[in-house]
Amino acid sequence: MLDVGVIGAGALGLMAAWQLARAGCRVRVIEREPTVGGLVVTSTIGGGAIERFYHHLFRSDRRIIRLIGELGLADRLIWGRPPTALRCAGTSYRFDTPLSVLRFPLLPFHDRLRLGLVVAYLKAVGEPSRFERETAAAWLRRMMGERAYRVVWEPQLRGKLGAYAEQVSMAWFWARVHDRSSSLGYLRGGFGQLYERLAVAIQQRGGVVRTGEAVEWIGRIDGRPAVRTRAGLEQFDQLVVTLPTALFLRLAPELPTAYRQQYLSASPHLGAHNVVVGIRQRLQWSYWLSLCEPGYPFLVLVEHTNFLPPADYDGLHVLYLGNYLPHDHPLFALSDAETLRQLLPALRRLNPAFEESWVREAQVNRAPFAQPVVTPGYRERQPPFETPWPNVWLANMGMVYPHDRGQNYSLLLGEAVAARVLAAAPRPALAAQVG
Ligand SMILES: Cc1cc2nc3c(=O)[nH]c(=O)nc-3n(C[C@H](O)[C@H](O)[C@H](O)COP(=O)(O)OP(=O)(O)OC[C@H]3O[C@@H](n4cnc5c(N)ncnc54)[C@H](O)[C@@H]3O)c2cc1C
Repeated sequence: MLDVGVIGAGALGLMAAWQLARAGCRVRVIEREPTVGGLVVTSTIGGGAIERFYHHLFRSDRRIIRLIGELGLADRLIWGRPPTALRCAGTSYRFDTPLSVLRFPLLPFHDRLRLGLVVAYLKAVGEPSRFERETAAAWLRRMMGERAYRVVWEPQLRGKLGAYAEQVSMAWFWARVHDRSSSLGYLRGGFGQLYERLAVAIQQRGGVVRTGEAVEWIGRIDGRPAVRTRAGLEQFDQLVVTLPTALFLRLAPELPTAYRQQYLSASPHLGAHNVVVGIRQRLQWSYWLSLCEPGYPFLVLVEHTNFLPPADYDGLHVLYLGNYLPHDHPLFALSDAETLRQLLPALRRLNPAFEESWVREAQVNRAPFAQPVVTPGYRERQPPFETPWPNVWLANMGMVYPHDRGQNYSLLLGEAVAARVLAAAPRPALAAQVG
């Protein structure tokens, strides 16, 4: 029986492990955090389960929608069209339908029309090869005009990618527009349920999912893949690593220098900083509010309970104050109390009646590896599943190009890397076929 190790119990690692277990492999998943789910880490507000980082689905997220059904959760998946808006010049403007774009008053009518037509064109184009060599900033300026770029896109790119805003690939921007629907999905009770069920499904196939156990070293012993955790050394026939590439390189110091140099900076990662707040009253009307005017200490406000009913959270209204930041940004170093002291007053700009006494619960969440940044030509620079070591495979969020990272794409990658492991394995090592 093929003995496979999987490092990381996020969407990707769990999906890979499930496929391998179903194919008859003996699977061991090793996860550093106390729970499974990776970036879909879950907490509670008002007693209701809530992701520490905002999550929803698009209609194009077909693999995760299917998985939700496969794991018996289809009745909890809800769809809606909660309003998405831009905050510019002191006002929030709806910006999620052709009509709302045509009504957007901060651009002359011909600029709005042009913007709408270009978005329609990006949705219609089926694949991104024509966009691979150019930055989104250059392409958008050329196609939509300087004014539309400056008012609508530049603040959003800057908010999401900071210093990389002018460098990100147009292929990535194409995928963001192409993949997204205004209809959004959410798994009532939290996406964490999906990963808990996936872990159970792995165990039912004889696999083992160990949490709260960090891998401290990855290497080879006598030519076989090996890892070290606080429990000691262990070996596998095959090893699937689902960590960000930079972390893999750090934990596997004996990898050849040429490989390390090639992939160390192939795609830098930004960290995510999300403050989740449960308040007694509704703050404002939109679900997703991109902050396009200067002066806010966060880039997006997500009022989750403008999609889900507050009753799911004991009547509390749930807000996310979201940021993507470089790892050395001072916000990451602040205490929770100081973070709230700096961020909460900005909510008064969105609703002058807001008082800090409305806040019943608040949590500060930080994730260092949250958003890979891809620049033109990335397709040739992204790492392959194969590593220089036979039987050691790497699959991570930096490989979902040109798509923006998302659960759906990590699940697809999990399936793809499992298929590669199985294809490379000697046939007698597999006890059963995929069931
Ligand atoms: C702010 C934010 C908003 C998002 N919004 C959405 C959204 O709306 N919709 C959507 O679908 N997706 C969204 N995503 C993306 C989604 O969460 C990710 O794409 C997906 O969860 C990535 O899964 P993964 O398994 O590839 O990586 P991860 O979830 O990062 O999994 C890697 C795992 O490896 C573990 N690990 C790390 N080091 C070690 C070690 N030394 N030993 C053992 N284990 C280790 C980690 O703890 C983690 O569990 C969002 C992400 C963020 C940060």
